[in-house]
Amino acid sequence: MSKFFSSKYTSLEAYTPGEQPRDQQYVKLNTNESPYPPSPAVVRAAEAEAKRLQLYSDPESTELTRVVAEYLGVEPENVLMTNGSDEILNFAFMAWGDSDHPFIFPDITYGFYPVFAEVNHVPYREVPLQADFSIRAKDFCGVSGNVVLANPNAPTGTLLSVAEIEEIVKSNPEHVVVIDEAYIDFGGESCIPLIKKYDNLLVTQTFSKSRSLAGGRLGFGVGAASLIQDLNTLKYSTNPYNVNRMTAACGVAAIRDNVYYQTNAAAIQACRAYTALALRQRGFTVTESMANFLFIRAPKCSGEALYRGLKERGVLIRHWQKARIRDWCRVTIGTKEQMDVFLAAVDEMMKE
Ligand code: PMP
Repeated sequence: MSKFFSSKYTSLEAYTPGEQPRDQQYVKLNTNESPYPPSPAVVRAAEAEAKRLQLYSDPESTELTRVVAEYLGVEPENVLMTNGSDEILNFAFMAWGDSDHPFIFPDITYGFYPVFAEVNHVPYREVPLQADFSIRAKDFCGVSGNVVLANPNAPTGTLLSVAEIEEIVKSNPEHVVVIDEAYIDFGGESCIPLIKKYDNLLVTQTFSKSRSLAGGRLGFGVGAASLIQDLNTLKYSTNPYNVNRMTAACGVAAIRDNVYYQTNAAAIQACRAYTALALRQRGFTVTESMANFLFIRAPKCSGEALYRGLKERGVLIRHWQKARIRDWCRVTIGTKEQMDVFLAAVDEMMKE
């Protein structure tokens, strides 16, 4: 840290992204990327747009916003496109959090939420998940603060129903409820239709997972026009050209190529069931995940030992030191071939 770093950030603990190794070819099951490349039409769109990179991007992402809104059955005024969904989540903390309006989220959830709170000096409260890592909707009803919930939750994969989400939104009319649907396309039901009924609901989604665009950085939020206006004020106060030309073109092409991405999401769900069964047969505990990953506990070794043992065998998964989940690891669902390599490495470890 330099002597110039503002004292308002000296205790900030930055978010630690999953490893992106360059030293070795791993079977990479640690950051919930898609194992499938973008569709050929998306690659063509990026190539074509590359020729126009001397020009700034459209600050309103007009075409992309229109295509996404039409796909979701909402109006363009209900949608804001961002640089990954991390950007819109940060805007949400900036826009609606202050000392009178803390954020409330589960103790086990996306590790960026406490960082967004800290960096924006927003107080927050963590609500413990149930013993089986499920979220009890009533714990988030009538709370005096904004709520942010990943649905499905990460890294646990558990899903709340739209009815449960509605209960939470309805019971907190004086605060905003942010539902982070980064993993909704792997079998969950989106609560986006509720935005027509409630002016305090923001739903965020991403192109990083089911749409194979993690490296393009594209996410969005959907909510009442008044909420989108708040977020737009922050976008125009930080980075008006937040979605670059190539990514915006890729986003339009990806929505138009929906069947390709739905087919991939279905394959990932089938592979998730296959991997969960194989792990349970080996004595692992596996939560009921509706995302493109499994949250698993090995029968005989610690989470860290599993992570390290698999890394030595060329398979990367994710492990956290956080006390409550120290025995657990998160494994992204890849192709069946990748999961067979993972399972073979698990078998080899278990023989030792
Ligand atoms: N929400 C959750 C729950 C996530 O796991 C992630 C991915 N790390 C994100 C949001 C952000 O993803 P992106 O910025 O790539 O859209």
